[in-house]
Amino acid sequence: MRIVLLGAPGSGKGTQAKKLAAKYRIPHISTGDLLRAALAAGTPLGVQAKAAMDAGQLVSDDIVLGIIRERLRANDAKKGFILDGFPRNIAQSQSLDGMLNNLNQPLDCAVLMDVDFDVLMQRLTGRRTCENCGATYNIYTNPPRLDDQCDRCGAALRHRADDNEVTIGNRLRVYDSQTKPLIDLYRNQGRLEIVNGVGDEDAVFKRMLTVLEPIAKGMRKPKLPPLPPAKPAKAKLPGKSAVPMKSKPLPVKPLKPAAKAPPKPPAKKAAGKPAPKKPASKPAHPKKKSRKPAKPAARRKAAKRK
Ligand code: AMP
Repeated sequence: MRIVLLGAPGSGKGTQAKKLAAKYRIPHISTGDLLRAALAAGTPLGVQAKAAMDAGQLVSDDIVLGIIRERLRANDAKKGFILDGFPRNIAQSQSLDGMLNNLNQPLDCAVLMDVDFDVLMQRLTGRRTCENCGATYNIYTNPPRLDDQCDRCGAALRHRADDNEVTIGNRLRVYDSQTKPLIDLYRNQGRLEIVNGVGDEDAVFKRMLTVLEPIAKGMRKPKLPPLPPAKPAKAKLPGKSAVPMKSKPLPVKPLKPAAKAPPKPPAKKAAGKPAPKKPASKPAHPKKKSRKPAKPAARRKAAKRK
């Protein structure tokens, strides 16, 4: 099974992804987790991603696509995967389709976890995560038995750095402007499923299974993206100046040097020549001036008159 979980921050993608991964024995691939791990390990990539993550903005597509490409190549992803937090914009979804086409492993569907704004805020501000085993809690809806301590392993619970109100606001705005358009995209492609994400996690999980079981049992074939090689085929990219910029700048670059090149050859020959030409135009004036020697004659006449 190859699915994408769509939904706003706090919609419960991570929680449901973990449960689905355990049930179907496929990896839960979260770009947020991978980026946080890179950051914790102090890798250059993590350091690069930090500023955007702290601000609640999207990390650059280049970084995220690099991470996901490598992760999807791993052996455990060959039997399927649950993508959580990726794709997050149209360009990423197109890149994902390209990668999966190359691997001959099309996406089964995208599942949108539908949750109201108020619930999202409560979930995000109350969220606590175990820094050791990754278990998640919510101080309002699913509190740990002991304050700030994991029920499972006893390690300390952490409030995610980007779960403060300012950053949460940014993340929700970014979701609205950049990620939400994916809902229409997948819907128009006939690859969208919507699950009500409100309620306790087991109830939501049951709803997830009603959608996913037919896929797991092979009763439903994946719908191929209606935008195979033809769509990334340049026509759309120029129109959307947004992010897919790999194929555009490349054709542009050769043009620039080409434009610069012609001036150079003339410049080599002309490097010395035009310069003389300019001065040559100056001598034209001196010639005019050279007619002025009439002046001395005028002076002589003037002298004779005197
Ligand atoms: P998440 O854990 O999915 O909420 O992601 C946490 C942060 O990681 C986001 O606010 C982004 O800064 C970054 N991030 C995660 N996934 C992506 C992605 N697909 N594209 C860009 N940035 C991402």
